[in-house]
Amino acid sequence: MDLIVAEKNISAHRIAAILSGREKLKESRDAGVPVYRFNDCAVIGLRGHVVEIDFEEGYTNWRSREKTPRSLIDARTIKVPTEKKIVQLLQKLSRQADTVTIATDFDTEGELIGKEAYELVRQVNPDVTVHRARFSAITPDEIRNAFAKTTAIDFDLAAAGEARQVIDLMWGASLTRFISLAARRGGANILSVGRVQSPTLAMIVDREREIEAFVPQTYWELSLSTEKDGEPVEARHQTTRFCDKDSAIAARDRTREPLVVTEVKEGTRTEKAPAPFDTTGFIVAAARLGFPAANAMRVAEDLYMNGYISYPRTDNTVYPSTLDLNGILRALRPTEFEEDIAWVTANRRPHPTRGKKSSTDHPPIHPASAAARQSLGQERWKIYELVVRRFLATLSPDARWRTMKVNFDAGGEPYTATGGQLTSPGWRKVYPYSSAKEYILPVMREGERLPINDVKLEEKETQPPPRYSQSRLIQQMEELGLGTKSTRHEVIQKLVSRKYVEGTPLRPTLVGRAVTESLENHADTITRPAMTRTLEEHMEQIKARKRSGIDVVAESRSMLHSVFNQLEAHGEEIGVEIMEQTAEEMTLGPCPVCGRDLRIRHLRNQTQFIGCTGYPECTFNIGLPMAMWGRALRTDKHCTVHGLHHVRLVRKGSRPWEIGCPLCHHMESNTEAFSLMPSLTPAHRETLLSRHIYTVSEVANTAPERLAGILDIPDDEARTLIREAEEVLALLRRRSDCRKLVRRMLAPKKGRSPAKIIRHLQEAGINDVAGLAGAAPALLKKLGITEKEADSMLREAKMVENERFLRNAGIPAASMKKYFAAGIFSPEDFLSGHPVWLSGVVGLSLDTVQRHVEMVARAKGLTPPAKYTTAQVSRGRDNLLTLPGLTDLQLERLQKAGIVDSTLLLAADAAAAAAQTGIPAGKIKAWQAVLQEREKKPRDDIIVI
Ligand SMILES: [Zn+2]
Ligand SMILES: [Zn+2]
Repeated sequence: MDLIVAEKNISAHRIAAILSGREKLKESRDAGVPVYRFNDCAVIGLRGHVVEIDFEEGYTNWRSREKTPRSLIDARTIKVPTEKKIVQLLQKLSRQADTVTIATDFDTEGELIGKEAYELVRQVNPDVTVHRARFSAITPDEIRNAFAKTTAIDFDLAAAGEARQVIDLMWGASLTRFISLAARRGGANILSVGRVQSPTLAMIVDREREIEAFVPQTYWELSLSTEKDGEPVEARHQTTRFCDKDSAIAARDRTREPLVVTEVKEGTRTEKAPAPFDTTGFIVAAARLGFPAANAMRVAEDLYMNGYISYPRTDNTVYPSTLDLNGILRALRPTEFEEDIAWVTANRRPHPTRGKKSSTDHPPIHPASAAARQSLGQERWKIYELVVRRFLATLSPDARWRTMKVNFDAGGEPYTATGGQLTSPGWRKVYPYSSAKEYILPVMREGERLPINDVKLEEKETQPPPRYSQSRLIQQMEELGLGTKSTRHEVIQKLVSRKYVEGTPLRPTLVGRAVTESLENHADTITRPAMTRTLEEHMEQIKARKRSGIDVVAESRSMLHSVFNQLEAHGEEIGVEIMEQTAEEMTLGPCPVCGRDLRIRHLRNQTQFIGCTGYPECTFNIGLPMAMWGRALRTDKHCTVHGLHHVRLVRKGSRPWEIGCPLCHHMESNTEAFSLMPSLTPAHRETLLSRHIYTVSEVANTAPERLAGILDIPDDEARTLIREAEEVLALLRRRSDCRKLVRRMLAPKKGRSPAKIIRHLQEAGINDVAGLAGAAPALLKKLGITEKEADSMLREAKMVENERFLRNAGIPAASMKKYFAAGIFSPEDFLSGHPVWLSGVVGLSLDTVQRHVEMVARAKGLTPPAKYTTAQVSRGRDNLLTLPGLTDLQLERLQKAGIVDSTLLLAADAAAAAAQTGIPAGKIKAWQAVLQEREKKPRDDIIVI
């Protein structure tokens, strides 16, 4: 059997379809992975890399004392399968294979993926023949050709890729760990550092500093308008920028009629047709159509995989002589470009245009087969059309312009008007992405005199350099040798996802800036492009067999060690610098109470809130939703009322939650609660706000006298307000419990979303679970809740209620578990028997239980039962057990009723005690009689308490 291994499933499918020709293609799945078979051939697709490199075991603990960040430099690396099912299937098929053909993409990355597959094959079938098929487009011609002329794997090319992987891992992991630990950042907030990423970030930071340091210069522009045969003409002063206002005004004042034509120059200009697309050129052009770099590449790869365009990762801007340009034109004819193709064929330039870079791997990006607009969908069509039109443009003649320049004199001041007219559109006819601005001047003769209709003096300012757009940054990275055609857009994507940069165009965040500046201060090799450019040169040397991969990795290792020498000497400083700078990113603006800074605080667990930096002197704070709803970050927007930064909750994979101004939000979210307090007037609310009382719970916690003073009302009215506030809080708590319970207990079904149920319940005046249980069956039915469900919700609610009560009463969580395990759930259960009995049931010490019962009783507003010492109880038990016929069970019942010794038994009302304990009154009376006897005749062996 012949086994063919493609880079992805989609290309496997296409290759199989092409190679099977007229044979029927059978598709099956093995452990979910598709296999395509025809004749005696099986084709499978990988998922790009199916293994990844990682450090050998023992390096996962970031805080390990022995395995420091530096130790990662020399750590051994291993290959770990990341796509186990595919690896298994590949090896299973390899065992049966007579030959294996690797048909991954043809570049460094593809060669490495191919080599990884090769190694997996060799593990299970050491002798099988392995071929390599190389192609630049997945079209029938290319594929058949490639499989007819297979070669061997280029291990040098793969070695270059492998060296890059090892070096990237080593630099990225060791530096990321070092910097994150220094700045005390962990979890989702680690500060990543990378070989390509850090110099790229530094470029963006640099640009931002240039912009900040930019001092705009004022200058003046002078122009005039005239006309010829009714056609308006604009002319500019030949001094394009006046730096001095006085001389600009003087020039304007000297400008006066007649306007005399002093010279007319006519000429022609050719506008060269654009060069073929390499990856960068393509990304730049796609950006003009609104595609961010990563999107453009994703769509292009999809088109490649489906055979519509050639491989989109290329540095080549010269069509190789082997590329069949006529064949491509023919193939594209049955498309909506038919007319354009006919035009290009008729007007074809003698040689296609060529760019500056010629390489042997892939041709420039070009169309590979015909496609229809409907079948591609809008996004893919736009990119496909761009590639087709660019291809056509490279075969089209240059555009030609007729140019005209007219010089004037007005009172000694020289002016010029320029115009241009497209005489032959050439490539512009098929490539309409940049518009040709024509400005046609009327015919003028030397010596002609014209009127001056207006003279305009405009004040302008020089502009700072612009921020980088993604495509501009990719161009710049290419110029500096940062990254490769395949990785540049991914690096930018990473900077965005790590929150180092944001916005379009790109600007650095505070963290991005802090990390860059700290690295620049202490180990600037990491932020400069030189190091990474050297590495790219080394890669080329590996490919050309001038150096070995091992040698290059070793050099990089020693370079990284010297970086660590610098870093470790300044670890403390780096940490402090970053922490100080990034504190600002959490600072929101002035505290409404004391004016110091408010700051977002994240605690170790999910808790986050906004607190005053004046704490503990100032206790102002605003609660935020738990971090599971998104991590709170400040945004650039400001509240005009409070001067605070807006806050946004960001969670991976979901839309950000905009909180807006936290103080506005805080006040709004309490508006409904305040409206539930019947005695609170709008004027009261205003006064409360002005005194920084924003929430109902703050009102509930204010002393009546103080509240009375603030609102200028009698004390009893203040008490009423406080009581109402407490009631509102209780209501809100019940509502929230009810909401939680509904969410937890009712499985979402069609037509009964929790949110809908809660809304309907509140509309029906049901705010808590007790109300829900008592709700009319018709209502429950309408909401889709069964009686059984309502029942179990009520029980659950009771539990929740109990737990809250006991927790508030002060029972520690650990003890609570023991009580629950013993079946003691509610406060009533706690008070249902004397602590002496309860301690026996629960297995906690008498002291502890008495303390707990006292807390519960006080929380309930009840008098706690009398307390006894362990010694008292034990003596009392011994004493009671001497009574005739008193069993252990009866003892327990007596204790439960608080009758823990003979004195208490003697004093008890027999009928009441009988009712409490279930022991017949006669028996109790009999014991009391025995005790009375003993009192009269004390015996030596009985100690009466
Ligand atoms: Zn404050
Ligand atoms: Zn506000």
